[in-house]
Amino acid sequence: LASRLPNVGTTIFTVMSALAAQRGAVNLGQGFPDFDCDERIVEAVSRAMREGHNQYPPMAGVAPLREAIARKIEKIHGRAYDPGTEITVTAGATQALLTAILATVHPGDEVVVIEPTYDSYVPSIELAGGKPVFVALEAPDYAIDFDKLARAITPRTRLILINTPHNPTGRVWHADDMRRLEAIVRGTNVLILSDEVYEHMVYDGAPHESVARYPELAQRSFVVSSFGKTFHVTGWKVGYVAAPAALTAEFRKVHQFNVFTVNTPMQVGLAEYLADPAPYVELPAFYQRKRDFFRAGLGKTRFKLLPCEGTYFQCVDYSAISDLPEAEFSKWLTTEIGVAAIPVSAFYHEPHESGVVRFCFAKREATLATALERLARL
Ligand code: PMP
Ligand code: GLN
Repeated sequence: LASRLPNVGTTIFTVMSALAAQRGAVNLGQGFPDFDCDERIVEAVSRAMREGHNQYPPMAGVAPLREAIARKIEKIHGRAYDPGTEITVTAGATQALLTAILATVHPGDEVVVIEPTYDSYVPSIELAGGKPVFVALEAPDYAIDFDKLARAITPRTRLILINTPHNPTGRVWHADDMRRLEAIVRGTNVLILSDEVYEHMVYDGAPHESVARYPELAQRSFVVSSFGKTFHVTGWKVGYVAAPAALTAEFRKVHQFNVFTVNTPMQVGLAEYLADPAPYVELPAFYQRKRDFFRAGLGKTRFKLLPCEGTYFQCVDYSAISDLPEAEFSKWLTTEIGVAAIPVSAFYHEPHESGVVRFCFAKREATLATALERLARL
């Protein structure tokens, strides 16, 4: 069979989690919490099941959840999306991203991708017959070169994919970055697909700069988020897309034949839980404590800390410890030292070595402490 995705193997997250499990390593590789979610959200979903919310929901998602999402976005970013025509509940952000790409990218269209980049983007573009055009960011600060970004845009550009807060670098877009983006797309037909799954993990008092805050950007954007990140339920796979009605209409044409709908009781439970802003309002402080604890510990090792403004990822430069390539260093760290990490090279489409790996700090303090103790031996 001629593969549609000849260059795709098993994702690095699966590979490293399997190796960590096999070796009994502390798994700071794949991004997921090692603590449980709030009992109240489990209760809300269980109640929804017991109350009979067990058949197909409406195609775009249950109305109370779409309404709760719209209220949240309006409260935080001041933009009113119509829950009827502009918000769609998805099976996690992964499906939202693929569906938005399939709905907009025609064969031969160019899609600008900023590297290091989340691993689902490029295969999704390729499935649509699109051509990824890469703009690479470099360690240690991974600053966005907006001149390079502007030069990447051609008459064939359909879409720019952005991700803030950024996986894996922890970099966050600020207001001046958003204005630069606005200037670049002004007067073009280029659409934006904005992956904001870490929207509630921005630290040091900085705001999350959603494209929803910028009318010129919002009118050409799909905004994607995921409850998996925000409510510590990565296995539930529920997320959403907010986009202007015309874009949402095209999104839903694909969505209805991709998944049709997303599981009902989760949506009903999430709608109830989302009514209380406390869990997401308190999330930055919750994760900032973990970030600070982890960074303080790493500060006593030979790893060099890179900035972490957002997400639950911390990148480190290990060049003082080893000159192995990143993938080999990550495997060695897992098998010999007992701490799993993700090579940042896995987020680039071509061989790219900068001596940097990513750790996930969405872990109990005891887990982080065990990992730090092992890392301090290096
Ligand atoms: N985008 C980014 C940047 C992510 O880190 C992730 C999850 N690791 C996703 C999308 C996918 O989110 P979900 O699990 O909701 O599909
Ligand atoms: N997004 C998570 C990460 O970056 C992993 C999700 C997955 O395993 N596909 O680690």
